[in-house]
Amino acid sequence: MAYFADIIIDISHEKLDHTFQYRIPNELFAQVYPGVQVQVPFGKGNRLIRGFVLEVTDKAGFDVNRIKEIHSVTADGVEIEGQLIALAAWMKKNYGGTMNQALKTVIPIKRKTKQKEKRMIYLCIGQKEAKKQLAVFLEKHNTARARLLEELLQHPEISYEVVTQKLNVTAGVIRALEERKILKVVCDLDYRNPIAHFKSKEYHTVLNEVQQKVVDTVRADVCQGIKKTYLLHGVTGSGKTEVYMELIADAVASGRQAIVLIPEIALTYQTVMRFYGRFGNRVSIMNSRLSPGERYDQFLRAQNGEIDIMIGPRSALFTPFPKLGLVILDEEHESSYKSEPLPRYHARETAIARAKLAGAYVVLGSATPSVDSYYKAECGEYRLLEMKQRAKEQPLPKCHVIDLREELKKGNRSVLSIRLQNLIEERLAKKQQILLFINRRGMSGFVSCRACGHVIKCPHCDVALSLHRREENSGASAPGKLLCHYCGHSETAPTVCPECGSKYISGFKAGTQRMEELVKKRFPSARVLRMDLDTTRNKGGYEKVLSAFANQEADILIGTQMIVKGHDFPNVTLMGILAADLSMYATDYRAAERTFQLLTQAAGRAGRGDKPGEVVIQTYNPGHYSIQTAKEQNYEAFYQEEIAVRRLLSYPPVSHMVLILFTAEQEKPAKQAAAYLAGWLRKTLPAGFRMIGPASAAIAKVNDIYREVIYIKHKDYGQLVWLKDKIEQFVQEKTDAKQISITFDFDPMNGI
Ligand code: ADP
Ligand code: ZN
Ligand code: ZN
Repeated sequence: MAYFADIIIDISHEKLDHTFQYRIPNELFAQVYPGVQVQVPFGKGNRLIRGFVLEVTDKAGFDVNRIKEIHSVTADGVEIEGQLIALAAWMKKNYGGTMNQALKTVIPIKRKTKQKEKRMIYLCIGQKEAKKQLAVFLEKHNTARARLLEELLQHPEISYEVVTQKLNVTAGVIRALEERKILKVVCDLDYRNPIAHFKSKEYHTVLNEVQQKVVDTVRADVCQGIKKTYLLHGVTGSGKTEVYMELIADAVASGRQAIVLIPEIALTYQTVMRFYGRFGNRVSIMNSRLSPGERYDQFLRAQNGEIDIMIGPRSALFTPFPKLGLVILDEEHESSYKSEPLPRYHARETAIARAKLAGAYVVLGSATPSVDSYYKAECGEYRLLEMKQRAKEQPLPKCHVIDLREELKKGNRSVLSIRLQNLIEERLAKKQQILLFINRRGMSGFVSCRACGHVIKCPHCDVALSLHRREENSGASAPGKLLCHYCGHSETAPTVCPECGSKYISGFKAGTQRMEELVKKRFPSARVLRMDLDTTRNKGGYEKVLSAFANQEADILIGTQMIVKGHDFPNVTLMGILAADLSMYATDYRAAERTFQLLTQAAGRAGRGDKPGEVVIQTYNPGHYSIQTAKEQNYEAFYQEEIAVRRLLSYPPVSHMVLILFTAEQEKPAKQAAAYLAGWLRKTLPAGFRMIGPASAAIAKVNDIYREVIYIKHKDYGQLVWLKDKIEQFVQEKTDAKQISITFDFDPMNGI
């Protein structure tokens, strides 16, 4: 059988899908796989040029007789481009989607409308000294250095571009002069990229014993050439960031580079400045506000060795460092590490795959590790490292759980419990600050009783049923239909609580704006700030609210998830969690995990300074294990409860799950396609697979597109990948299904 390879010639090109097919000579077959660099004859003259293998296939794309042969495999094909292409191939295989989508995710693409990053070079020494220096350079025939300095003597500020392009001076020369403090490179993108504005304070925290032990453990492995994935479980404030920086310093000292992934929402000025403080302008920041051109420039700087450390959200993982040493995922439990656009990759697994290709290692860090990662640590796939105490030895905050059912019985109809009201008053008197957290993410339409806390759940799947809405935003007008979005089970929504007969059965509605009004009314003298999507929509709005609160221009900050992450307000001594339940019954199996994480992270916000903190958790389910264990800040206890549930119901990580999503402009074809495939699967699925559904997605219709789902479970992820390939093949043969799109989501994290 003949084999062919799709080869890409110019990977910086916008059209990554422009490939050329070559035949693989038999003797090269074993050496040709995605990412490998090859020499191929090109054009009329068959000039030999460089290309990268994207895919290997046994199907010729056109007349076999006209397909040329690969000339040779380049022996040391370990170029960064090859690594990234191999990574893209890995992503396509494990997450579905096309090779082109994977490549576009992984490879920085140069676009024609490139926006220039504004960087300026400043002379930092006096004219006299500069002239003396110039004479030295001329004498030593350091022509490039001399040329640059001459120019700077005439124009003390020059744009970086002018220097590199017009003066033909390389980045290396600029860096050399910068190191000798002759000049300074200043980037004025925004404060998140404050290169060289910052004067390195040369500060250095001395690690405490626990931190040192963690660093030594990793170091010992690295010294022996062992490349592992570590799970650093450290309570909030235990000093994980210091540990990261120590490991990064090691890597940089040995000539390697590091990528630090941080969810964008936690990528705060404070965090960024800590890295700058230690590593100065060898650090670069990536964020979603950069234009594609700016992103490309950043990647270029990484590839050219101008920086050693890239900090950013998910997409920073693809920074083309030539010798990657380690990847850190901070807050590894965050759901933003899972990509929604295709390919639906998870940055954690993808980081591990990239590290493997690059000979690097991975550190996952969290105060509340994902159940997935902790399970893998338990199974020995990751190595667990623990830091159980706060670095500055502050005690963990004291936690009160308030039963909202009792409040209602006592006649308190306010959303603020008596306890919380009293504590707020006390803090206001002491001029200390208060955070009030409203959990809105979980409000996906489940139905609960305000009198007894009862929530209507699916009898088969142990997730909350959700009130069926056809349109994305149509209000919930009960009585409606309750649906399970895993198995399709449906029932009529009750008008009275089946447990206690109360008619207060509906969704819990408490927006941040309403809460702000209520709090202002109850505490008229308090200065109240609100942080939600509305108040932070404008550019810089988010930082404005945060810095106003940090400057103590307000006493109370009310907000959603945004206020929970990563901020360090030393004067906050009280955290109120207004309705802890709202994420507990989100209609998917990770709801309890999310609740525990949120409560623990929220609790970690109180008492970061010298004053001890207190936390009030208000809930209708004080007995639920996610609330009890969060109250005690006992991760291990939470994990044991949760993994037992997952085991019982074969949910990830004990088993794996793939979501098959059908989308179409019409409801009927979407439903028909799902039913058709389900019928075929029912007949052909080997033992070990379990199919659930088909059912309508939680939001059955988004932007006029209908969505149907099928879930398939199997203990082995590889088997699900195998099944995906089979389904894709099956679907391809039914070419009449053009108006329907079928995509896959492995171990889905975001409600569909
Ligand atoms: P985490 O990332 O685990 O939440 P951080 O690294 O942010 O923790 O550390 C929490 C606080 O403790 C920070 O203010 C940090 O400067 C301080 N800190 C960390 N390690 C030490 C140390 N070894 N000595 C003194 N202070 C430390
Ligand atoms: Zn009830
Ligand atoms: Zn169900």
